[in-house]
Amino acid sequence: MRRILLVYSLFSFFISPILAQKPVGEIPLPIAKMPKNIVLLIGDGMGTSQIYAGMVANGNILQLERFSFVGFSKTSSYDNLITDSGAGATALSIGKKTYNGAIGVAGDTVVYETILESAKAAGKATGMVATCAITHATPASFVAHQPDRNLSEAIAEDIAKAKVDLLIGGGLQYFEERKDGRNLVAVMEESGIRVVRTEADLFGITTLPFAALLWDKHPAPKHEGRNDILPRATYLALEKLAENEAGFFLMVEGSQIDWGGHDNNTDYIVQEMMDFDQAIGVAVDFAERNKETLVIVTADHETGGFSINGGDLSKKTVSGKFTTGGHTAVMVPVFAFGPGAEAFSGIMDNTQLYEKMMQALDLNRKKSAVNWKDKAKF
Ligand code: MG
Ligand code: ZN
Repeated sequence: MRRILLVYSLFSFFISPILAQKPVGEIPLPIAKMPKNIVLLIGDGMGTSQIYAGMVANGNILQLERFSFVGFSKTSSYDNLITDSGAGATALSIGKKTYNGAIGVAGDTVVYETILESAKAAGKATGMVATCAITHATPASFVAHQPDRNLSEAIAEDIAKAKVDLLIGGGLQYFEERKDGRNLVAVMEESGIRVVRTEADLFGITTLPFAALLWDKHPAPKHEGRNDILPRATYLALEKLAENEAGFFLMVEGSQIDWGGHDNNTDYIVQEMMDFDQAIGVAVDFAERNKETLVIVTADHETGGFSINGGDLSKKTVSGKFTTGGHTAVMVPVFAFGPGAEAFSGIMDNTQLYEKMMQALDLNRKKSAVNWKDKAKF
């Protein structure tokens, strides 16, 4: 007993002051109930103004208001206060700050296993849904390892090899109209992955694994006629992945909120935000039924320096202003729902989201990090 007391008093004397100096979001929290599944929803370029613009346009409410824990993520990259989507997504996928434009490699181009790859190695089912080419920076960072986000064909090759159980997005051209003449659709089909190209075929699929490459490159923006494929694909993905006994990891991206910011187009942002929020609602509905699913919503960065300088709640309108056509450095929100959600409040670095998700799913990296030059060994 005396020994326990001594240990305790030494702990409180030496350790507590150190812990007290750390930001709340950096302290590893004991997770009361561990989730079996994680749904990570990334709103590309989604800052608090983008969220509130969508909220006003939607009648002063969003599905996001159902979340129990809210925090903030610091998004700076390895080489820049302002991140891009490659470094932003890579921070979430491998837990390392990296240089802008990097895909699944650290700042020194060392290749690290991503959380999706660790989940797969642990027997979990894996999936990605995006409203852009699946080779684009955000989804690419979860399964590809390339020094430059513009290497779309090399990224497609990594994706084809990764054998993700479920892929829904665009980018078909990088798989079958390649400069090297190879047909990666055939390669995927030979490895047992069914590849479909239409929504009708997608929603007729009964078993995993499959890849739905629905657009040559990117789908249309929501305000130019894209349908509600994002929430419907999210629903399908959750139903299919949940059939796996050992759980799953699913990444869903609201890809084009960012593009509305780059275009300084408030309507583009609002429509994409409301669409993404529908997918968020589908994920929370699933988590409420399933009870073993942690849902996390965050952004890689804010885009446009977007602010709301006027509007009318009763008319559901906002008038936006922008400070840039690029990204900004402001912190972005983190929302968490389900078992383990309590670990995601406070202010945290984007890389800590990776650590917390790995901890929540009780995952460890299986493959060791390798230098980019030795990627073939990875
Ligand atoms: Mg993106
Ligand atoms: Zn962007």
